[in-house]
Amino acid sequence: MENAAIHDLFVIGGGINGCGIARDTVGRGYSVYLAEMNDLASGTSSGSTKLIHGGLRYLEHYEFRLVREALMEREVIWKNAPHIVWPLRFVLPHHKGLRPAWLLRLGLFLYDHIGGRKLLPKTQTLDMTADAAGRPLKKLFSRAFEYSDCWVNDARFVVLNARDAADKGATIATRSTVVGARREGDHWVISLKETHGEKRWDVKARMVINAAGPWIDEVLGGVLGKSGAHNVRLVQGSHIVIPRKFDDPRAYFFQNADGRIIFAIPYEEDFTLIGTTDRDYGGDPRDVRITDDEVDYLCAAASEYFAEPVTRDDVVWTYAAVRPLYDDGASKAQEATRDYVLKTEGGDGAAPLLNVFGGKITTYRRLSEHALEKIEGFLGKKGQPWTADAPLPGGDFPASGFEAQVKALMRDYGFLDDGHARRLVRLYGTRARQLLGDATEASALGQCFGADLYEAEIRYLMRYEWALTADDVVWRRTKRGLRLSTGEIADLDAFMSANISA
Ligand SMILES: Cc1cc2nc3c(=O)[nH]c(=O)nc-3n(C[C@H](O)[C@H](O)[C@H](O)COP(=O)(O)OP(=O)(O)OC[C@H]3O[C@@H](n4cnc5c(N)ncnc54)[C@H](O)[C@@H]3O)c2cc1C
Repeated sequence: MENAAIHDLFVIGGGINGCGIARDTVGRGYSVYLAEMNDLASGTSSGSTKLIHGGLRYLEHYEFRLVREALMEREVIWKNAPHIVWPLRFVLPHHKGLRPAWLLRLGLFLYDHIGGRKLLPKTQTLDMTADAAGRPLKKLFSRAFEYSDCWVNDARFVVLNARDAADKGATIATRSTVVGARREGDHWVISLKETHGEKRWDVKARMVINAAGPWIDEVLGGVLGKSGAHNVRLVQGSHIVIPRKFDDPRAYFFQNADGRIIFAIPYEEDFTLIGTTDRDYGGDPRDVRITDDEVDYLCAAASEYFAEPVTRDDVVWTYAAVRPLYDDGASKAQEATRDYVLKTEGGDGAAPLLNVFGGKITTYRRLSEHALEKIEGFLGKKGQPWTADAPLPGGDFPASGFEAQVKALMRDYGFLDDGHARRLVRLYGTRARQLLGDATEASALGQCFGADLYEAEIRYLMRYEWALTADDVVWRRTKRGLRLSTGEIADLDAFMSANISA
C-alpha cells in the first residue's frame, strides 16, 4: 500500500480532461491523485487539429450549446496561456456547387455574435482575385470568408495543466496503469501497476473519475468489472504534415464534395498541417495509425484547392488519434455529437464514480467546471470556480505580449538567436528563464542534440514535465522530431535513459 491516506479524488487518465479536472479540483482544495498509463497527452490529446475553436461545422448539426460554450472559451484560454495559444485567421473559399454563400455568411454571423468575442477580429469577405490568400490556390475561387479562431499546442496544454495541478499539491503518476478498482464501503481501493515494470501499489479515494478517453469502456469493463459497457464511439482522425505550402500566416478551411471539411494550417514555421479525416474505428486505440486511404483522401482534398497538388511524396510526418465520442447512435461518424456527457453512479453509501465521455480540447475547462458540480454533490462543496482567470504555468503575461517576451528574453540572454528565443517563449513562456538559469553563453546549456535542443531543456523537461523518453520530448513537449535525424533522437534517448533518476 503506497499511501494509507484516503484521497478525495482519483483520476484515471492524463489527457486534457483528466489533467483539467485534476487542476481544477486540487485548486479548490480537494486532494487528488492522477494516474496516466503512458506519457501525459500520449492518447487523443496530442493528436488533435490543435484548434481552440467554436466548430463552424457543428452548427450544421445544431450543436448550438457546444458551439457557444466553445466560442466563449477562445479568449479565456488565450488569455490564460498566451505562450501556447494564439489567434489564427481562417480563409474559407466559397466553392460554387458546395454550401451556398448565404449559409456560410449565416454561420459566420452566428460565430461572430454568440461567442463573447472581444479581442479576436470579426469575419470579413475577401476578394480572392486580389487578396494574397488567393495566390497559392487554383484560380477557381473569386470570394472567400475570413474568420477567427485560436491555435493551441495541445500536448503542452495537457502538461501545463498537470504541472499546475502538481504545483498545487496533486500527485501525478505517469507510466502507472490502473489495473483494478473496487469499492470498500464509502471509498475506492484502486490498484496500480508500473506500465513498464512490476511494481504494484494501491491508492484509496472517495471518488473515481474515469477520464480514460478512448479507453473509457475498457476501464469500465476491465478495471471496474462492468460487463457489456459500450458507451463510447471511437472515431479516427488523421493528419499529414508537408513542407510549407504557402507563406501566408492564415490557415485555410476547405470544404470537400463529401460534405466534410479539412484544414490546411501553417505549422512549426516550415510546414503545413493538413487534416482531418473522420472514420469509425474498431481496433485498439493504442494501434491507431493513418491508413493509405486517408493519406490519399487528404492529398486529394487539398489538391482540389491548391494550384500545386499535394502528393504522397510531400508527406514528411503523419499522426492519427481516436475521438472518444459519446455514442448517441448517429449513423455517420461525422454526425456523432462532439459535445461531452458526464455520467455518475454510486452515492448513498457506495463510493461514487464519474465517467467522462467526449469533449473537445477547447471545452476542457468548462467540462471540468461541470464535473465539479457533480463532484460537489457527492463530496461536499469546496472552493469556487477559479480557472477562468488563472494563467497556466509560464502564461503569466498579457495576451498580446508574446513579442515583448521574446525581446526581453533576447536582451537578458544575448546568446539566443531570434528563432531559439521564439521557440522557448512559445513552449515555456515566462518559465523559459527557469530553464535557461544563469547561462551566459550557449555552451552553458550543455550538450546540443540538434536543432537548438540543449541538455538544459531536456533536464527541465525531465524535472518539471515528466519527460522520460526521447519520444516524449521530440513529439509531445516539443516537435523537434520534425528536424532531428534518427541518430540524433537515439542519442537523446540514450542520454535520457542514463539520466532518469539524476
Ligand atoms: C483527429 C482529431 C482532431 C481533433 N481536433 C480538435 C481540435 O482541433 N480542437 C479541439 O478542441 N478538440 C479536438 N479534438 C478532440 C480532442 O482532442 C479530444 O476530445 C480530447 O483530446 C480528449 O481528451 P481526453 O483527456 O478525454 O482523452 P485522452 O487524451 O485520450 O486521455 C485519456 C488518457 O487516459 C489514459 N488511460 C487510459 N486507460 C488508462 C488506465 N487504465 N490507467 C491509466 N491511464 C489510462 C490514456 O493513456 C490517455 O492518455 C480532436 C480529436 C481528434 C481525434
